[in-house]
Amino acid sequence: MINVDKLKKDFPIFERKINNLPLTYLDSGATSQKPQQVLDAMNMIYTNSNANVHRGTYVLSAETTEAYENVRNKCKEFINAPSSDEIIFTRGTTDGYNLLAKALTSKRLDPGDEILLSEIEHHANIIPWQLVAKEHDLKIKYVDVDDTYELNLEDLSKKLSKKTKIVSLTGESNISGTIPNIKKINSLVRESSDAIFIIDGAQLVPHRAVDVQDMGIDFITFSGHKMLGPTGIGVVWGKRELLDELEPVSGGGDMIEEVYFDSAKWAPVPHKFEAGTPPYVEAIGLGAAIDYLNNLGMDNVENHSDQLRNYGIKLLEQIKDLNIIHSRADQAGSTFSLYMEGVHATDLSVMLDTYGVAVRAGHHCVQPFHRKLGVDATFRATCYVYNQESDLDNLKDSIEKSLEILV
Ligand code: PLP
Repeated sequence: MINVDKLKKDFPIFERKINNLPLTYLDSGATSQKPQQVLDAMNMIYTNSNANVHRGTYVLSAETTEAYENVRNKCKEFINAPSSDEIIFTRGTTDGYNLLAKALTSKRLDPGDEILLSEIEHHANIIPWQLVAKEHDLKIKYVDVDDTYELNLEDLSKKLSKKTKIVSLTGESNISGTIPNIKKINSLVRESSDAIFIIDGAQLVPHRAVDVQDMGIDFITFSGHKMLGPTGIGVVWGKRELLDELEPVSGGGDMIEEVYFDSAKWAPVPHKFEAGTPPYVEAIGLGAAIDYLNNLGMDNVENHSDQLRNYGIKLLEQIKDLNIIHSRADQAGSTFSLYMEGVHATDLSVMLDTYGVAVRAGHHCVQPFHRKLGVDATFRATCYVYNQESDLDNLKDSIEKSLEILV
């Protein structure tokens, strides 16, 4: 069990008042708030041991390098990867997808090959593939998402073939909370193709215990800022043999072993994918965030998310004419995208702000799926460890008060 009243004291932002009201923060799907422990860890590096990593022969650089590399190990354990060499630091999920799309395409894909995504993907798992598809004459297919917001696995099986070289799917949807059955999909992918299977972990990794070996996938990407850590840091995990095979997509310092005027030899993984000065302070902040989540226990984080999800659904269903985009499967995230005919999502979210309730309005970077639903914008409430039932009560009350004015 998470004691939210106690936990909230770790998050300085909750001392803020918004329009003289306490902050009801329901936008963790966009970014999470940060505990003092993360802020302190980063501040400590800048004030106490700041020096660039992997270069200095002096105490400060050695300390920072050790702290930075230690986070690789924390990430490895957090997702149960076999080796910390398989943890590549990126700027976030989007950066990770751009790396994977370029590196995998140039090594593994030929013109006419297919990439299989789903209709519910975030743009971070669409646009990088569209960019390489255009350049290399690849075909992108999308698995149907049914009207309960689940991936249609029959359709997935139909669309898989020997031509499918990449399957990349959300681990937890940022609009409906849908959590696909990754293990089952993994067996379908392996049965009918030689595709590389990638999971978008941007929403999954912050909310559920993840075991990449148990899931059987080839790669996962995630962002530090959605899991209590800072912006500017993320992770790609990949199987060692695949990472060894791929070429780097960015060149510069720190990613080489030998450089000549006309050629170079790459450093081993993970460094060959990390050109230039890495965001080491941000990585150390991510390490503190992982410690914080481990102290809470990922099982507790998961149960807390489930409790809020069940409570939220029952509550929001009481609002007349409110449409709720949310998976009703046994497992789903505490993410609700909402809309009401005749009321613009932005107007509603601006009204909610006057009651101190922060939600996001728009297409949440899932525009094709909004288009399929025939809805141009929704407003979205997403919960995390510092939310409690009273936040959802505030949401419901504020929606009702806003509708009295807007309708
Ligand atoms: N994938 C999903 C499911 C997301 O929710 C997000 C961010 O909202 C991303 C990818 C992109 O993450 P980032 O903006 O941290 O790169």
